[in-house]
Amino acid sequence: MNQCRTEGIELTPEEVQRLKELPDAAHEVEAHLLCELEDGHAGPHWALAQTEDRGEETKQWWLRWDDEAREWQHDPDCPAEDPSGADWCLLPTGHQGAHSWA
Ligand SMILES: [Zn+2]
Ligand SMILES: [Zn+2]
Repeated sequence: MNQCRTEGIELTPEEVQRLKELPDAAHEVEAHLLCELEDGHAGPHWALAQTEDRGEETKQWWLRWDDEAREWQHDPDCPAEDPSGADWCLLPTGHQGAHSWA
């Protein structure tokens, strides 16, 4: 799929610090995030900032934003699988636009 062409969003230093200090943080924190939805999607932009990996369970830190608001969400993963069984969707459940493998 074609990824959303928003210019992205900048995390505050406080947000970066908080995400870095999570005990089970799986990723390096990028201060500048890009939307991971399909280009032309409806609703706010969504970007994954961090994953807490606790083995059995993971907790995702998705930032959702538009011109007026930004909010943190911990959505479960999209349950969709590629019909060929080779891939699965990396977006949160209920996302707009195409699944991530498309
Ligand atoms: Zn977007
Ligand atoms: Zn999906």
